[in-house]
Amino acid sequence: METQNKKRLPPWLKRPLPAGNNYNNTAAVLDRLGIETICTNANCPNKGECWSKGTATVLILGNICTRNCKFCSVAKGTPLPPDKTEPQKIAQLVKQLKIKYLVITSVTRDDLPDGGAGQFRDVINTVRKENKDIKFELLVPDFCRKASPSGQNCQIEALETLSDALPFVFGHNLETVPRLYKIARSGADYQASLKLLEMAKKTLPNTLTKSAIMLGLGETDDEIEQVLKDLQNVKCDRIAIGQYLKPSKNSFDVVEYIHPDKFDYWAARAKQLGFSWVLSSPFTRSSYNADR
Ligand code: SF4
Repeated sequence: METQNKKRLPPWLKRPLPAGNNYNNTAAVLDRLGIETICTNANCPNKGECWSKGTATVLILGNICTRNCKFCSVAKGTPLPPDKTEPQKIAQLVKQLKIKYLVITSVTRDDLPDGGAGQFRDVINTVRKENKDIKFELLVPDFCRKASPSGQNCQIEALETLSDALPFVFGHNLETVPRLYKIARSGADYQASLKLLEMAKKTLPNTLTKSAIMLGLGETDDEIEQVLKDLQNVKCDRIAIGQYLKPSKNSFDVVEYIHPDKFDYWAARAKQLGFSWVLSSPFTRSSYNADR
């Protein structure tokens, strides 16, 4: 099969370069406060659009990940200890950009005893003190620390930690179909990710759960259908479906560019299966238009 290296981007995947006063202002505030974003670290193609609207997805707990997923361009290595001033910096960001809906994500921190759950909680609680009406959407790692004898206990502990902060949306991405985990998401386990979403629904009953998958990694329609059904079985409320784009030269190659009509098909199918919120288009990312 042809890969992204060998073929040109189809016309529906071409976007203008980021520019404009609002974009520059978002970039300047993030830079001044020293806040990382997944927008930059993952080379997101929507950065121009989102930053021009004053929206960015903050990346807490540093920009070095303890895993090595082949679809992701975030640096791998040994991360620094959590920054205790991070919650306050993000509170400043929310104030300065007048953010009403904040998506928070992190690298996977297999090195931390709580997988980083405490930092998510502290960010939410600190921001909320000064901004009562803000809504939070979390996009969390699987909290399955390799060092732990039981990944599931780690997940339960992480959810208990987060129950003190109650986000509006709890997101965890399955990313792809189980057959492709070995090559695309080698440090993760499909069933453990589903389990986390299931336990989140039980532990945080008033929080919506959300997941996302990328298309174009070589998955089949039957496999996508099964993933949607698996998510419905764990009562997942929201789904985002987008085109995988190779974010760096060492990342996994794109196997296929999926036509926009096919994304429309999956949007309709996901609604039919019971998702209450669906976003499916080539440029959809888990945090794209999350406040819609
Ligand atoms: S879609 Fe998400 S990660 Fe991409 S630029 Fe927008 S907010 Fe950032």
